[in-house]
Parts: sequence; C-alpha cells; structure tokens
Amino acid sequence: MIRLNGIRLSHSKNTENCETRDLECPKRITVSMSQHIGAPAQPTVKAGDEVKVGTKIGDAETYISCPIHSGVSGKVTRIGEMLLPNGKTCKTVEIESDGKQTPDESLAPPKITDKASLAAAVRESGCCGMGGAGFPTHVKLAFDENKTHIDTLIINAAECEPYITSDYRELIENADGIIGGMTLMREILGIERVCIGIEENKPKAIKLFRDKLRDKKGFEVLKLRSAYPQGAEKVIAYYATGRVIGEGKLPSEHGMIVLNASTTGMINTYAETGMPFVARRVTVDGDAVGNPSNIRAPIGTPINELLAAADTDLEGMKRLIAGGPMMGISLYDPSLPLLKTTNAFLAFRTEAEKIKTTPCIRCGRCIQACPLGLMPCEFEKAYDRGDRDALNRLKINLCMNCGSCTYVCPAKRPLAEKNQLAKGFALSHK
Ligand code: SF4
Ligand code: SF4
Repeated sequence: MIRLNGIRLSHSKNTENCETRDLECPKRITVSMSQHIGAPAQPTVKAGDEVKVGTKIGDAETYISCPIHSGVSGKVTRIGEMLLPNGKTCKTVEIESDGKQTPDESLAPPKITDKASLAAAVRESGCCGMGGAGFPTHVKLAFDENKTHIDTLIINAAECEPYITSDYRELIENADGIIGGMTLMREILGIERVCIGIEENKPKAIKLFRDKLRDKKGFEVLKLRSAYPQGAEKVIAYYATGRVIGEGKLPSEHGMIVLNASTTGMINTYAETGMPFVARRVTVDGDAVGNPSNIRAPIGTPINELLAAADTDLEGMKRLIAGGPMMGISLYDPSLPLLKTTNAFLAFRTEAEKIKTTPCIRCGRCIQACPLGLMPCEFEKAYDRGDRDALNRLKINLCMNCGSCTYVCPAKRPLAEKNQLAKGFALSHK
C-alpha cells in the first residue's frame, strides 16, 4: 500500500534564489571509494601518480558499483582509509591539487547508439543517484527487455526535504541539460511517456518546464503536492503511474525508470562532453551559516571548506547534518569529504533537542503517516522485546527511514531511529 497524503513540513528553502557558485579549487581532496550503494570501488592509482580532472581513480568489477574519478588535477599523495558516518571504513585516494584544473585529455563524448551503449556510458560516467540514495544509475537502465517493457520515465524533482535546493537550482540553471537527458533516454530506450515531477512549492520551475516541454510530444510536467516524502521513489512512482513497486523489485520490473533531476542533467553532460561525475552542487544552510548558498565543488572536498565558503560560524556550530533534517545524518567531523550522494550540509548553533518521551497512547498517527502503510509502533514493541520473527512479519525491511512516524508521534517516540536498529537486528539474523 502507498499513501500519498504525506506530512506538511516547513519548507525553509532559504537558498532557492541563490545561484550556484563554484568553490575555489581545494588544495587537497580525499575521495572515498565507497560513494554509492553496492560494492565499494578499489583504487586504480597509487601514491605519486599524476591525475587530471576526470581521470579514473577507482573502479570495481562488481555489477552494482561504478567507477570514481578525480575532480582536480594534481598528484596522488596517499591511498588511505576513512571511517564513514555509518561506522564502516573504506579506502580513500588523497590528491594534492596543482590548482590548474586541467581536464584529462582522453575524455571524449561516448558513442551512444542503443540500450547497451547507454548503460555502459552511464556506468563509465560514475553516475549514481544524486538525490541521496546513491543507487548506481546504469543498473536502472540495464533492464531485460525480454522480461519487461519500459513505458514511463519519471524524473524526480520533488526535493521534498526542508532546506535543500540543490535539485531546484539544477532545474532553473540547467533545464535544457535535464531535457537533453530525458530526450536521450526516451529515444534510446523507446519510452512512450516521460514526466518530470515537481512539487507545487516550486512554481517558477513548473512554469519553466511547462513552457519548454509544451511542444514536445510524450513529455509532461507533474505538479506534485508539497507533502513529505513526495520524492521517495515508491511514492513518486505511484503518483505518476498508479503502480506499486513490489518488495525487493526495481521500478523497471514495473515498466518504469525513476531518475533524480540532477542525475539526469549529469548524464546529459557526460553524453555531450565525456566529463564524468567529478563535482556536484550542495546547499549549505542552517542558523550557523552566515551566507546560505548553493556551491559546486569537486567530490572529495573537505566539508569545512564548503562551510567556510558560506561564512559558517565553525566555532559556534554545534550540529552538522549531511542531507536534510528528516533523512540526513549527523556528522562527527567537518573535515570529512564531500560524497557524490550529498545534496546539503546543514549547520546549526544548537545541540539536538533533548526530547522527553512518554508512553505510546496507541493513537495510530504513526501508521497513518507512514507512506508505505507500515506499523512503526508495532516495530518498536517487537524490537524492544527482541522479536525478530515479528519484525520480519511486519516487513521492517521496507522501512525507508523517512522519519514521518517520528515527526507525527504525540508521545515523541523515537520510531524512525528504532526502526533503523530494528532493521539491522532483524536482517542480520535472517
Ligand atoms: S520511517 Fe519507516 S516506518 Fe516510519 S514512516 Fe517512514 S517508512 Fe514508515
Ligand atoms: S504515533 Fe506514537 S503514540 Fe501514536 S501509536 Fe504511534 S507510537 Fe504510539
């Protein structure tokens, strides 16, 4: 079951009119080899190697993975290791920049003539979902046409989390690039219907795309309600097609492909220039930020350089979140590097509120708020009594950790947080 009602959040899109600016080239970048869902990449360079912008520095043979490229020109100084916010470690490639930003001369636009060459090109581009999930994009495009017919391409431009305007700026600043990516995929994959879903709180973007797509047959703009989590893949797919993505299934198995708007723009850039995914736009906002901004920086840039570029009070900052306030993660160290999947950094002067929880009053609001029709209050009880079977029966694996249940709970139960623990507990012993 999918519910479309969603919850109403304050938008706080303070940076919607902030044109993207480029960060001054960082002196050093640290590029994580674990940037996406699936197997981490392995470094393909060693200390002392010269690299340029776009040089491949990591790759994996595993299907669900993609290569990683340098966002600066300079010299590899070290193959290191990094502790990720999720507690795991991964390899890193550290590069000292020469400040010249020389592009790798081997880069050239790929030859894309059919579905296989499109998927291969997208893999080579290092593209993974830029909206936060980080699923390698080529996997979404490499469906088996003998088993499924793709009739709909959905471009996800909902950007329903408060504060974040990174996709919105892509819509405004690179509308033609997004349309180029949509057109490329429509033509190569023979898709009948291409729609772009934009929340109604972005009227300028809706008008821009309606004007540009007016005479293009098979293209449409979906005006989405401003309700969280409208941009969740299962929710937007249901809104656009009425189809429910089944447990463990990909959208392609239901005849559709869902891509983030910035990802679509990135695919178009690669198709036109051959420049892979080496840099991205991030929103920097929060009450510790003096100059809320949208900034483009090479992947691997230390976060504190992005914060400094937005006049953040680094001394007074008490909390730093990567992503939005609903699904983002708190970071313990502002010197960690920018990842391909990070769309925002939010810096606040206050510590997280110490919330007093009270017993569950069985009001059912958490169940009503769950976009996937799950039962968060029952997850909590099952987890507290260590009942793995019940957690699996209740489908804890489907929880996408959107936080809607925590947000509406009058007893302030930490439901989404418990769900994460419960998921790990249930799945690790299956
Ligand atoms: S965090 Fe999980 S259980 Fe809670 S509302 Fe979101 S999907 Fe449902
Ligand atoms: S919203 Fe909170 S109080 Fe209401 S049923 Fe869910 S856990 Fe219990």
